[in-house]
Amino acid sequence: MSFADMPVDVGPVYEGERIRGNQMYVELGGPKIEKHFELVRVKAAKEIEDGKVNLIGPDLKDMEEGKSYPIGILVEVSGPELEEDLEAVFERRVHEFCNFVNGIMHLNQRYTNWMRISKAAFEKGFNSLQMLGTILIRLYKAELPIIKKAQVTFYTDPEKIKEPYDIALEIYNKRDERARSINDEDVDMFYGCVLCQSFAPTHACCITPNRMSLCGSISWFDARAAARVDPKGPLFEVPMGDCLNELAGEFTGVNEMIKKRSLGEIEKIYLYSGMEYPHTSCGCFEAIDFFIPETGAGHGIIDRNHEGVAINGLPFSAMANQTGGGKQMPGFNGISIQYIVSPKYQKYDGINSGLEGGIYTIVWMGRTVKDRVYDLLPEDIRDKIATEEDVSDLSELPAWLEKVQHPIIETEEYKAAVGGIEEEEEEWEEEGAMVPMGTVGMTIPGVGGAGGFKVILKNCKIHAESIIIKKIEPKRKKK
Ligand code: SF4
Repeated sequence: MSFADMPVDVGPVYEGERIRGNQMYVELGGPKIEKHFELVRVKAAKEIEDGKVNLIGPDLKDMEEGKSYPIGILVEVSGPELEEDLEAVFERRVHEFCNFVNGIMHLNQRYTNWMRISKAAFEKGFNSLQMLGTILIRLYKAELPIIKKAQVTFYTDPEKIKEPYDIALEIYNKRDERARSINDEDVDMFYGCVLCQSFAPTHACCITPNRMSLCGSISWFDARAAARVDPKGPLFEVPMGDCLNELAGEFTGVNEMIKKRSLGEIEKIYLYSGMEYPHTSCGCFEAIDFFIPETGAGHGIIDRNHEGVAINGLPFSAMANQTGGGKQMPGFNGISIQYIVSPKYQKYDGINSGLEGGIYTIVWMGRTVKDRVYDLLPEDIRDKIATEEDVSDLSELPAWLEKVQHPIIETEEYKAAVGGIEEEEEEWEEEGAMVPMGTVGMTIPGVGGAGGFKVILKNCKIHAESIIIKKIEPKRKKK
């Protein structure tokens, strides 16, 4: 396979290339554009014109520099061994193959896909999506030899993308519905994926029926099909081994897999916990589950489409930096949206707090993600989860939780957190000591004037990039 006829280089070495706003010629898809998608379909051989690239809408050279445009990428493939279950796995390779091109940055998947073409690539002559289509077709056939024929269609016209976009959404929904039809107990094999190791070298997804891949693109069915046709590929079998902790979802086979694939960096994983030995996160997660220490045991969920900040004052991008990179980060977990409605969702954390399940730890969700999962959430909790329309910051959250009688308020952790804050305030007034809590910044002051300082941390998990210790003048005692 050669790309000598292309004006830019193509190869895995370019994966991870970043194209900043001032370096980009145009942006395709992404948060500024309403409808965009990427989809792979398996077709009969007679329906494919091998090597053909269609473009419906303006080409790169017709676009205005610095602007954003819709992008739909439809890859149609055929081959005697292909089956529909492979579509999602092939679709995930769009991300990888686009990133092989020097001068293209591709992020996300499905209907959140987001690409940038660099000015440098455009100036070298990479000025047509015909070229990208040809590159994709060559890569698909070379890297996945079971694909015998391939054709690609790009949609950049804002009107003409509407119909294929709706079809794509319907297909994603059908895949997700099927993925929800089985549970971890029904299978004797899990699957792993290391496609994101070029960005996050210690990350490997463990894909189970109840825990879809973080990117939301690969279900257990999809992973099984991929591992069957290419057992030495990036998706592989993970024998479960012995179950060490049913509630946490700890399996010897999963621990062995993560230890090997993270090169010894990660020793074990609790599949159903966001707080203890959580699954690693790469950077492709659809949403983030984050701990809210001010609620003792409560969590929030924000997804990529959320505009503005979450309840803790942080935008998705800031929390994504904290979460991703292949780290095991208790309190910040990259998740798929499907996992939120799984019966195993952070079950270990919820049950350990005396709740009925992990979903009952959720006290806040961004509106966009809540709308996506609302119908699938348990009826007794869905209207008790606040959004940015119900509370604007953490100070308003306890009043909301108590008004709707969210089950979190019955947990010991909540009572200690909320009561603890009041107690600490009392203590401050009496003794001049305090331990404030927060997720954005945290100050641990000393006891003014008396020398030394006192810090009391109970059941505490702390994540901090920096800690500032300042001297604070003592307050006067209450009369
Ligand atoms: S997020 Fe996980 S499943 Fe998805 S491509 Fe990356 S490693 Fe594979």
